Amino acid sequence: MKEVLLASGNPHKLEEVRAVLGPLGIDVLGLDQLPSIPEEPVEDAATFEGNARIKAIAYARASGRDALADDSGLEVDALGGEPGVRSARWSGVDGTREERDAANNRKLVEALGGVPESARTARFVCAMCLASPDGRILAETRGDFEGVITLEPRGRNGFGYDPHLHLPDEGRTSAELSPDEKNARSHRGAATRAMVPLLEAMIRD
Ligand code: IMP
Repeated sequence: MKEVLLASGNPHKLEEVRAVLGPLGIDVLGLDQLPSIPEEPVEDAATFEGNARIKAIAYARASGRDALADDSGLEVDALGGEPGVRSARWSGVDGTREERDAANNRKLVEALGGVPESARTARFVCAMCLASPDGRILAETRGDFEGVITLEPRGRNGFGYDPHLHLPDEGRTSAELSPDEKNARSHRGAATRAMVPLLEAMIRD
């Protein structure tokens, strides 16, 4: 296997995963490179791991290719781990990805308005699952990216909640990091790098 399908329509995720796997000679295909885009499965699991499995298995079966799925989100301690698996559509607002992100970020600021900075600890979490076309799970990995929620968004890179995840040791938000800097310490970078030995072993076999 020198090719893997990324089971996500999110172009930012595709870019981030390609930046890690591309230099290793692993070609990461986007859904738009398939002859027809498979129907989106219902992500109704209670955990990131569960949803990553649903996506990886559904897209591997539908495409006839090995598929890598990422399910990720933001966990805020003061909100009992919310938005969690509901991160993408937390605000309930429909629309473009940018409109949904903006509405989610407004909700985040409202929800944490009265919470002191020291209690606004949070993390991005990414669960990854690699599945084969016969529906077998080949590998699972996970990564975390710890920070503190800032009520004042900063930075234009990345997507989603990136402008609100402040990294105290950096003095910057995730959206102020370059793509390489974000990948070096992010949840998705870590989960993707943890997949590398497993992917390389499969390529060898
Ligand atoms: P998924 O596509 O169902 O996995 O939803 C992921 C959602 O979690 C995104 O729409 C974002 O709201 C949030 N999220 C996940 N990863 C990141 C990240 O790297 N930066 C900012 N937000 C993220």
